[in-house]
Amino acid sequence: MEWPGRCSRCKEVIADWSDAGLHEKRWIHKACFSEVWLEARNKGVELPELRDPTVRSSQLEGPMLLFLLMFHFGLGIAAIGWIMISQFDDPDGNPILAVGLITPLIGVIGVALNVISRRRIELIRQALDLQGGWKPGR
Ligand SMILES: [Zn+2]
Repeated sequence: MEWPGRCSRCKEVIADWSDAGLHEKRWIHKACFSEVWLEARNKGVELPELRDPTVRSSQLEGPMLLFLLMFHFGLGIAAIGWIMISQFDDPDGNPILAVGLITPLIGVIGVALNVISRRRIELIRQALDLQGGWKPGR
């Protein structure tokens, strides 16, 4: 996840979260979204409504599960590779062990980034709460 949060259209850092929203998993200013919406409308495409930026948090739950599974099963694969090498002297265990070590590593990095992203969204949520919450309009 991009940080500091930038608008996907004008690339400016989003200073006021009540003036921005979530469109296709990316942040965008409400004013910029209006332009995108009009452009799409002219092409005959109906865009979904702009959403609360904190909705992003729930979109991170799927990947989080995937990373946890990678960690879990990666270690299992590593154990199989290790047993093949140490118990049976089987050279086929080497690539299995390598996969079994790299997969959980990616999983751990993914989980860490996911946690950081969620914490940032919490900050956005707090900033929004101070202003009385997010509203779809201007
Ligand atoms: Zn913008």
